[in-house]
Amino acid sequence: MKYELIIIGAGVWGTSAALAAMRSGLTSVLLVEANAGVASESSAKAGGIVTDLVWHPEDVDWVQRSRQLYQEAYERTRDRSILQRYGMLTLAEPSRRDLLQKRANGLEDRGIVAELWDITAIHKEFPELDRVDPETLGLWTPGDFHVNPTAYAESAVAEAKNQGLSVRLGSRVDRLDLNSSSVSVQIGNESLQAEKVLVTAGTWSAKLLGQSGFHLPMRPYRVQLSSLDFPQGYHLPMVWELKTDVYLVPDGPHNLLAGDGTRLFEHDPDDYQTTGDDEFESTIAAQVINLTSKADAAGLRTSWAGLAGSTPDRRPLIGQVAKRLFVACGDQGFGVMRGPALGELGLKVALGEAEVPHLNPLRHPGGDFPIRPGFTLEEEL
Ligand SMILES: Cc1cc2nc3c(=O)[nH]c(=O)nc-3n(C[C@H](O)[C@H](O)[C@H](O)COP(=O)(O)OP(=O)(O)OC[C@H]3O[C@@H](n4cnc5c(N)ncnc54)[C@H](O)[C@@H]3O)c2cc1C
Repeated sequence: MKYELIIIGAGVWGTSAALAAMRSGLTSVLLVEANAGVASESSAKAGGIVTDLVWHPEDVDWVQRSRQLYQEAYERTRDRSILQRYGMLTLAEPSRRDLLQKRANGLEDRGIVAELWDITAIHKEFPELDRVDPETLGLWTPGDFHVNPTAYAESAVAEAKNQGLSVRLGSRVDRLDLNSSSVSVQIGNESLQAEKVLVTAGTWSAKLLGQSGFHLPMRPYRVQLSSLDFPQGYHLPMVWELKTDVYLVPDGPHNLLAGDGTRLFEHDPDDYQTTGDDEFESTIAAQVINLTSKADAAGLRTSWAGLAGSTPDRRPLIGQVAKRLFVACGDQGFGVMRGPALGELGLKVALGEAEVPHLNPLRHPGGDFPIRPGFTLEEEL
């Protein structure tokens, strides 16, 4: 049997591509995932922030399309965790006033509410941010959401299966071989044939394609997150402090997720520390205490780390790698908020229904380019 399409990797991007494939009318599509469950790698480790406050206009479109797809998943399942609106407060030093204003204006031009606050307004709405420096400015984006990527991905797969998708879990693809009339997908001793293959293997994508001789300009780097126990509860939105890169995400009445940005050096997706390191664990609570006295009583529940994929220009890699072979990856650490749209876009490109030459995965030679964070307010770093 030859599949019309095999999609490799069932994170948020791959499961979204799979649903889009079934909706496009394909009838023999296989989604292959190395792990026992869908969205069990980076997608499961994410903070789940979905914000319109992204630096590239194209990203705003992708966030908005992704939000529609998260909303659809909520409507299918009525699982409230899939999409919850908390709003996000971005805190910045006065020297960033012009940048905040520019971003606020850009969002307002698109009909998205964004308010610039001084410390009085910050304290009025969120008095628990009582340790924030009095000079601090806040950009309040009330439409921002928190999502549960795993619940979303499970719902996307269930819906796609209803429409005929085949799924293989616990099956790691070892190699891809290109033939004149098909792509051969090697899983152990088994060889599956497909008209086309779309690789959505997250930070493994470069490794997998590298084994077939295609060198993607993507380098995996490490991102850490902690879960803090707030025994007395709290009243906070999602918060992002630009000066320290610390961000907070509500996670139930007594639990808050806290992260502090990224470790900008390359990691092997098959060999990296998946727990938070000692330095992170010993400093993250103190960073939160600098924002709110509510954290004085907080304790570290647990911490973990996952990987994100950096590209030379911080833009995703979406498109054709070779005849019949396509890829969608290069999340830059904010691929949950754009993933549903980018999985869908990857599928459309593979089917010839969309063209995005500026995202051509081979547009850069690769090699030893500097790893840079993607989720920033600045266009230039
Ligand atoms: C700590 C942390 C916090 C984050 N917070 C946010 C956030 O708040 N908001 C946001 O937008 N983004 C966030 N991100 C980024 C986000 O998690 C990623 O951008 C997103 O999950 C990428 O999804 P993906 O589907 O491309 O990758 P993944 O979820 O990693 O999926 C790739 C899948 O491919 C599978 N795979 C790999 N190789 C093979 C193979 N050879 N054969 C078969 N299957 C294979 C893997 O098992 C995996 O399931 C965060 C990331 C981390 C680590």
